[in-house]
Amino acid sequence: MRITGIKATPVAVPYRHEEHWAFGRRLGCVSVLIELTTDDGIVGVGEAAAYPSADIVLAVLDSIKSLVIGEDPFSIERLVRRIELVGTWHHVRATSPAIAAVEMACWDIVGKSCAQPLVNLLGGRFRDRVECFYYVAAGSPDDVASEAELATRTGFGTCYLKVGSDNPHLDIDRVEASRAGAGPEAKLRIDANEAWSPGSAVRMIRELGRFGLELVEQPVSGRNLSEMAYVRNRSEVPLLANEASWTRSDQLAVIRAGAADAVSVDNQLDGGLLNVKRSAGLCEAAGLPVVKHSLGELGIALAAAVHTIAATPNFTYANQAYGALLSDDVTVGFGGGIDSYDEGCLPVPTKPGLGVTLDQDRIERYARLYRTRGSEFAFTDSAATKQSRALPKF
Ligand SMILES: [Mg+2]
Repeated sequence: MRITGIKATPVAVPYRHEEHWAFGRRLGCVSVLIELTTDDGIVGVGEAAAYPSADIVLAVLDSIKSLVIGEDPFSIERLVRRIELVGTWHHVRATSPAIAAVEMACWDIVGKSCAQPLVNLLGGRFRDRVECFYYVAAGSPDDVASEAELATRTGFGTCYLKVGSDNPHLDIDRVEASRAGAGPEAKLRIDANEAWSPGSAVRMIRELGRFGLELVEQPVSGRNLSEMAYVRNRSEVPLLANEASWTRSDQLAVIRAGAADAVSVDNQLDGGLLNVKRSAGLCEAAGLPVVKHSLGELGIALAAAVHTIAATPNFTYANQAYGALLSDDVTVGFGGGIDSYDEGCLPVPTKPGLGVTLDQDRIERYARLYRTRGSEFAFTDSAATKQSRALPKF
């Protein structure tokens, strides 16, 4: 079998609530959906996060086209190495989402060709469903409390909340409100996105720890692992690496530095699903669990991740997903909106390949939204382009 073409379609899907993190804001999710056509008629679908922008994803896809077309979609290792090394993309990290989308679409083709769901090709079901957290949007403390209450009422066991705002007192009020809304049994995870200095992080974690935290994600810079080890050694709350652990080599450095208790991994940022399996193996050997990170995704990329997580033992924490923030999706009944989740968990699709059903009407609707208003949903906050920010904040 040979790949005969790549079609790319950027789409924009609005969020129910604005997403705010330490250094940015988004109103929705932009993804680039891809279709790989083959000479025997099977079409594989994939999805790239529009990171750092849809334009860059589209440019990378165009640039690697000659390395992909004509290749056997079953030869995934060879294809990815061909793109990275022959194509000399391996030093350019921002190109990873496009490469990951091609790799994902190849897996969809392989699964459809073998009439097997992807989970069966990546090790088989270690678990039958995949737990995700409820993303509590950072708003007023009252809004945070009602979102956290909704999370618990709809069966989610873990709430995730951004901290690292300009006002630490607001962070404290939001975490307190989140605990009040979610109730005493819920797990509460906070993510500072590198906003704090080591001393501030120790003081903030000490202050916030009284609300019962499951994990604190990337409280300090991910570029200086001794800072993370400093905080970890002084914190009662386990530390989750994220900005420090985008790639396998980053994860190895985190392990060697003793910088984290758990490690975020993301196929979008390290070239594909096979590399997530490698990441999980690396961390398993070090005695560490892994957690799926997300740049924001729709049902196609989420399904690919769910298959991989279901087949990989050390995904023991609730994973990052955007179902609670998304108003809709391009797939039928998978991903966007909390109705897709049962007790905070997603089922592992059983149909061949990624196993999701695409809704062509909604793809067209959200492709039109991207064409007319795509910049409003980008990672770059259009309201903040004249600002400049320093890291750490305090
Ligand atoms: Mg994070």
